[in-house]
Amino acid sequence: MKLQNGSDVRGVAIAGVPGEDVTLVPEAVNRIAAGFAKFLAKKLNKQTSDLRIAVGHDSRVSAGMMKEAVFGGLLGQGVHVTDCGLASTPAMFMSIIFEDTHMDGSIMITASHLPYNRNGLKFFTVDGGLEKSEVKEVLTLASQSSAMAVSSAAIASLDLIDLYALHLRRKICAGLCSGMYDRPLEGMHIVVDAGNSDERENARLKEFIDSRGLHPRMAVNTHGHFDHTLGVQFLKDTYGIPFALSGKDKFLLDNAAPGSSIFGVKVGAMPSIDLDLDTTDEVRFGHTALKIIPTPGHTPGHVSLYAPQAKAVFTGDTLFRESIGRTDLPGGDYSWIMRSILERLIPLGDETEVYPGHGESTTIGHESLYNPFVVEVLNGQVNYDN
Ligand SMILES: [Zn+2]
Repeated sequence: MKLQNGSDVRGVAIAGVPGEDVTLVPEAVNRIAAGFAKFLAKKLNKQTSDLRIAVGHDSRVSAGMMKEAVFGGLLGQGVHVTDCGLASTPAMFMSIIFEDTHMDGSIMITASHLPYNRNGLKFFTVDGGLEKSEVKEVLTLASQSSAMAVSSAAIASLDLIDLYALHLRRKICAGLCSGMYDRPLEGMHIVVDAGNSDERENARLKEFIDSRGLHPRMAVNTHGHFDHTLGVQFLKDTYGIPFALSGKDKFLLDNAAPGSSIFGVKVGAMPSIDLDLDTTDEVRFGHTALKIIPTPGHTPGHVSLYAPQAKAVFTGDTLFRESIGRTDLPGGDYSWIMRSILERLIPLGDETEVYPGHGESTTIGHESLYNPFVVEVLNGQVNYDN
């Protein structure tokens, strides 16, 4: 019973750490596996000899010992055991759900993030992981069993992870309505507000993109301020992609050099606009369409980019976590930015994720409650609509 840890079985599986004796000895593991077989037989109203149980493990050094002991305990009860080898906890649960495998139950040998000398067992039935009280029942049944030594030579093996990966791939493809089975995410990338401004930052951005095998299709900007556009020319040159920005912010590109000198930054030539976001209500790439929501106020041409399926919005410098963009720069307007936020962003719904142009991400729900600029208007303390 000492081996119970909430809804898992946990213990020290190998020696090596001074003062930590091995508690998860093979004999105990063997009996616990037998206890699970008895528990499952009772739950499903079957004989243990009719049960099919899958066993998987993580990459711990004690996995081999644990697995042999689990096999012994299950085989001793006459269970039909399937060896899934190196697997993951969700995959082990899915071995019960998948029509192709349809196990009665499964055991995952893992101790999650615990130190190397530990190990443990997680048990699954069709209802999910066992509850604390059920694990107690398994251990009680284990204490009434004796360890059995049965050869595990004839155990069937299954490449569960391959099956699980296939399942995930199908889900992703179905979710994206994509016909491109092998590469469902191909062509799905854009860069929003590229602010990389020197060789080091350029190299980092390129490394990020290339190391993930991404293929950017467009550089899209929420607005034309130089701290959001400095990296665009690099992207155009490196990936040959077009640049999308509202034409109403073109004056900011034209005035980038004097504008940026106020901030002590030296900027070179600004990129030309290839797609005027005033002329379209969405940008498409791969199988994704981002809606263009005009949100002027920080700049006249500011837009937010909204992904309806993902319920996520890039708000640039319109809405920040518990703050809003400044409106004292050329073309800025407090009344406009508040109208943009209250009439166009807040209605996207509380659960919408917000990715601002600076600082941490947030949600519309959080901002409705905690953003002082929003709250003071909602409370009627400030009239933004002049
Ligand atoms: Zn800005």
